[in-house]
Amino acid sequence: MFKALVLDQEDKKTIAGIRQLETDQLPEGDVLIDVDYSSLNYKDGLAITGKGRIVRQFPMVPGIDLAGKVVESTDDRYQAGDNVVLTGWGVGEGHWGGMAEKARLKADWLVPLPKKLDGKQAMMIGTAGLTAMLCVQAIVDAGVKPEAGEILVTGASGGVGSVAVTLLAQLGYQVAAVTGRIEENGELLKQLGASRIIERGEFEEPARPLEKQVWAGAVDTVGSKVLAKVLAQMDYNGAVAACGLAGGFDLPTTVMPFILRNVRLQGVDSVSCPFEKRQQAWQRLEELLPASFYQQACREVALEEVPECAEAITRGQITGRVVIKL
Ligand code: NDP
Repeated sequence: MFKALVLDQEDKKTIAGIRQLETDQLPEGDVLIDVDYSSLNYKDGLAITGKGRIVRQFPMVPGIDLAGKVVESTDDRYQAGDNVVLTGWGVGEGHWGGMAEKARLKADWLVPLPKKLDGKQAMMIGTAGLTAMLCVQAIVDAGVKPEAGEILVTGASGGVGSVAVTLLAQLGYQVAAVTGRIEENGELLKQLGASRIIERGEFEEPARPLEKQVWAGAVDTVGSKVLAKVLAQMDYNGAVAACGLAGGFDLPTTVMPFILRNVRLQGVDSVSCPFEKRQQAWQRLEELLPASFYQQACREVALEEVPECAEAITRGQITGRVVIKL
């Protein structure tokens, strides 16, 4: 028997409760895992509270991220005792996820945990950190060098944005961070490596097709009019990595930045990112994140506290990361 957070649906409402389950109730998969840690993402918050249509079938164990140890495996790539990390692939949405003491998963979805990281550190990184790394890699792959100029990060105090600021600074880029919470988080963003902080309001004014060129690169987690403004201000040959829609999924822009300034807009997805790229990104995260990153605000909670934290994250009341100890 093992403990799990289980989501059920009653009268179209999502009910979350702790249950004892048996291993043979777990869904099919090649690898059985003892979960050490999971983490709470905004998407998990939507799933657990039922505020977003995330869960595709009930009952569901939520948790889009997990880190743990292999108990048994029918796949040659993994043996009992191996430490692994999982993010994405629809786990916690269509396949039982990380908020349980045990999980059974497809070997294809797993990544060996980098040697210098423990499960808790991996979950402080989680989907948000992996996505940030993929965005930063997109800027590097586009050939934007630190000497080319400033890199802008929008939604900078969020999970993705704060790791993107950290990674870019570690790579020697000059980082400008856009936030709606300067008072609350400005100092923290500077500690992470931002050299200047910009009020979000400046990016919410409607963009002209082309504005003064300011940014050599950008990581955008916000979308909508903020991304349109960023595009209009990109340097000639600049590159934007776009991964999020915190401000909306529309994009009120024109072709002008693309056809007159050679600007590139690279979409970034972490959920179905192929294994090789995923593994490389985890290795880079292990190398680049400084010890201070792991000392930042992080709350460790028990499974019983998750429903309350889920409600808080959907209300924007969480600062830093929440990791769940199983
Ligand atoms: P968070 O909620 O942690 O952060 C989002 C940040 O965006 C907030 O902290 C805030 O930053 C800013 N923000 C919030 N609302 C608005 C708004 N209305 N207008 C402008 N800015 C706003 O989310 P994550 O960092 O985890 O994720 C960021 C985005 O990336 C989300 O849309 C998420 O769905 C997406 N995502 C995509 C992935 C992918 O694979 N493509 C994977 C993971 C996440 P501040 O207070 O500093 O202004």
